[in-house]
Amino acid sequence: MATISLPANVSVMLLDIEGTTTPITFVKDILFSYIKEHIEDYLSTHWEEDECKQDVQLLKKQTEQDIREHRACPVHSPDQTVHTDEEKAIREVVDNVLWQMAADRKTTALKQLQGHMWRTAYTSGKIKGEVYQDVVPAIRRWRQQGLKVYIYSSGSVEAQKLLFGYSVEGDLLELFDGHFDTNMGLKVESKSYQRIAERIGCPPEDILFLTDVTREAKAAVEVGMNVVVVVRPGNAELAEEERSHYSLISSFSQLQATGSA
Ligand SMILES: [Mg+2]
Repeated sequence: MATISLPANVSVMLLDIEGTTTPITFVKDILFSYIKEHIEDYLSTHWEEDECKQDVQLLKKQTEQDIREHRACPVHSPDQTVHTDEEKAIREVVDNVLWQMAADRKTTALKQLQGHMWRTAYTSGKIKGEVYQDVVPAIRRWRQQGLKVYIYSSGSVEAQKLLFGYSVEGDLLELFDGHFDTNMGLKVESKSYQRIAERIGCPPEDILFLTDVTREAKAAVEVGMNVVVVVRPGNAELAEEERSHYSLISSFSQLQATGSA
């Protein structure tokens, strides 16, 4: 793929994370696997701590609501390895969390516990946020050229800051002027991009959005943003029509500010 020159008026880069700065597999394979593999240990270790108690309490409330609304819930089979009431209580929470994850539920209770587990994993060095090799050099170059750089991801701002704050390349948070999540709205809705432009304080036309998802690109274009679609290994395959409609890059190094070599 060839080099693409940024439109001269572009002063802000807006970056998606999954499939753009970071392999999609990082979230699916690393982050979610971490929860599944460590949930029991985590609960045992932190069971008596206030934060963990609150997380468990919220999960219980969610379960009560699920039962009221007749959602299927995990069935607890007698487990011979369980001896104490605490082990039994932990087992129930583990079963519930794994069941919610298998059903791809996005309840606040689940997300809160996951967020706390990931924070522990990142800060203790058990997980490092992945970024493609071309990302950091390109962002540094853009910044030197006076561009501002923001993140817009469905992952919470807190999760974004953990990923970049504890990344394979160290603490990268200083590279970003700000972070946006779905508090701005869904990524496939054009209003979200209008709100982000307002928040940044510039017209949408001055922003270039990088994403792997063409539905998001389309929404951004609708309010006048510039978009380039990022093709990375493991991303969803683009249709021929999408490939010809959008400017594509496979590396951030292909984006050149106007006038730069
Ligand atoms: Mg993405």
